[in-house]
Amino acid sequence: MIEVISSDLHGRIAKLSLPKGDVITPTLLPVIDPKENIIPPQDMINKFGFNFVITSAYLYYKRFGMPSNSDDIHKTLNFDGNIMMDSGAYQVLVYGDVDIDPIQSLTIQTNLKTDVGVILDVPTPPTDAYTQAKEKIVETIKRVEGSLTYIETHPEIIWTLPIQGGKNIHLLREYIQTIKQKDLIKAFNFHALGSVAPIMSQYDFTSLFSMIKTAREMLPHNIPFHLFGAGHPMIFPFVVALGSDTFDSAAYILYAKEDRYMTTSGTYHLSELIEFPCSCEICSKWTPKELLELDKETRTRNIAIHNLYVSQAEIKNIKVSINDGNLWELLERRAKSHPSLFKAFKYIIDEHKGSFLEYGTPVTKQIGLKVYDEDSFYRPEYTRARTQLYKTFQPKNSNLVILISSGQKNPTEFLYSRQDLKKLILSLSDKYDFAFLVPFIGLLPIELVETFPFSQYVFSSIISEEMLNSLWFEVSTFISKMKYNQHIICPIGNEEEAEEMAAYIQLKLKNSDIPFKYDSISDL
Ligand SMILES: [Zn+2]
Repeated sequence: MIEVISSDLHGRIAKLSLPKGDVITPTLLPVIDPKENIIPPQDMINKFGFNFVITSAYLYYKRFGMPSNSDDIHKTLNFDGNIMMDSGAYQVLVYGDVDIDPIQSLTIQTNLKTDVGVILDVPTPPTDAYTQAKEKIVETIKRVEGSLTYIETHPEIIWTLPIQGGKNIHLLREYIQTIKQKDLIKAFNFHALGSVAPIMSQYDFTSLFSMIKTAREMLPHNIPFHLFGAGHPMIFPFVVALGSDTFDSAAYILYAKEDRYMTTSGTYHLSELIEFPCSCEICSKWTPKELLELDKETRTRNIAIHNLYVSQAEIKNIKVSINDGNLWELLERRAKSHPSLFKAFKYIIDEHKGSFLEYGTPVTKQIGLKVYDEDSFYRPEYTRARTQLYKTFQPKNSNLVILISSGQKNPTEFLYSRQDLKKLILSLSDKYDFAFLVPFIGLLPIELVETFPFSQYVFSSIISEEMLNSLWFEVSTFISKMKYNQHIICPIGNEEEAEEMAAYIQLKLKNSDIPFKYDSISDL
């Protein structure tokens, strides 16, 4: 059902085979009301290119009553693309309860011939106490079990397993473990993480990212992973990088109703804008002042259209980044959009040191990596390469290693520009091992300087205390793994910060038990 075309971090461009045509992930499913829509649903395909939308089985029931088998949600909406139906759990999350039972919810969905259906689960909002949340996950598991016979008799629908537990990671884990132990997972061809909307509206991105990461780690990758209620385009690159293939949002219309205009770095109230920082059909035609003077409905429609364009543009941007292999760099840029997002990005880096994100990151890339600051130290290309280096590198000369400090300069470029030093190093390489001190890599044996990801990068930055700390951590790891008897530090060339880095490492070596000397390369 899901065929991966290319991937980077946990993000993947993939072909989802659905009943009403293939969908390329990552994609947003705009939320459609079963009855009242300010934008005609078919425009989601024709105008914006969204061939997969979501609507609510429960809202359909409230607007039209119980559907019969002759009904069809595609006809009701006048939409010929793929439709996912939410069971009513969102209303439970927001209002506390709904007046249908799980089997009625499934019957509404099958009678309406939804393409992707969801069982009626019990969400666990962040306000729940532990015991309350625990009762709810037990109830959801009971409902999963109770729905099995029904969904097995309706294989024409792709059924979604809701993932509950909320921001309580312990409960989230327990829920997924129980589902796996009871072998319930096999009945479902879609997985969807719920209870996200209130966390998102509180800007608690750290909890959100932790939930997605936990679920993504524990669930099989051959099943598409959906995120219920992903809100704002500002967070799209993050939810994709952590493993969400699809996500839905009503934010485009909810924001528009309050005159809120989305950008990839935040939201403006229409009255705050002197210009539109966008060139979609709405923003090219109107000024903020002109939009404010329109009647409420036209204004709402126009802002909603812009909000959809900006959402789709960000998804395309993410796809380009995945294809180019620089999704990490998009995260680094987008993390600066909001302090809460920056904090959550730091959480991803600190908590996991990049290894979680190695999963879909190609082993080699045709691009140069852009290195900005200490955050780049833990991009997955480097964490993986360092792990591999520590595991497999065999020193040629077990006695002595020369630690060359060339400052900010890329070792490949340095050796190319200083043929005299290259010749000197080569003439000494029978006697000694050589390794470069590289600010965001650690120690790089000279044999590996021309291999990916070490050879192709662009770095130009102030070498911060944090970067030096991380450098020392990697240097000491390298030294302890390689077990050389002696270490000689040699700053070479006249490169910026070569001396500073060498002096810092010298100081650290002095404070440890590691034997070393400080020398000039010409005296070796
Ligand atoms: Zn626009």
